[in-house]
Amino acid sequence: MSADCLFCKIVAGEIPADVVHETETTLAFRDIDPKAPVHVLVVPRAHHPNVAALAAGAPGLAAEVLATAAAVAEAEGLTGSGYRTLFNTGPDAGQTVFHVHAHVLGGHPLGGMA
Ligand code: 5GP
Repeated sequence: MSADCLFCKIVAGEIPADVVHETETTLAFRDIDPKAPVHVLVVPRAHHPNVAALAAGAPGLAAEVLATAAAVAEAEGLTGSGYRTLFNTGPDAGQTVFHVHAHVLGGHPLGGMA
């Protein structure tokens, strides 16, 4: 756990979240400010600041995050119509929480990438 990390506090149960899926190593919960009808964040329980650090330091855990994102999409009924999985990395991408998280977005047409 990293001190003053919002998502570490959610993983620890110190801050409430609407959890939709969990495994031994990952946690998935609804975004507090959803940008689509379904907007879930998938995090590893262990603290890594971004997806590059996760992939370099714990590639197996990176795969588990992706598998949890796929399980969330399936459970939320998104696999037929499609959905988006994305990671923001750094300020130019708009990353605001520096505990790696996959956004799983869907439930309506999302349009092309900006
Ligand atoms: P980023 O911009 O870092 O890629 O995404 C961070 C996401 O975390 C944002 O979509 C934001 O709405 C979400 N978020 C920020 N604070 C909280 C919180 O306390 N609880 C939950 N569930 N989501 C949060």
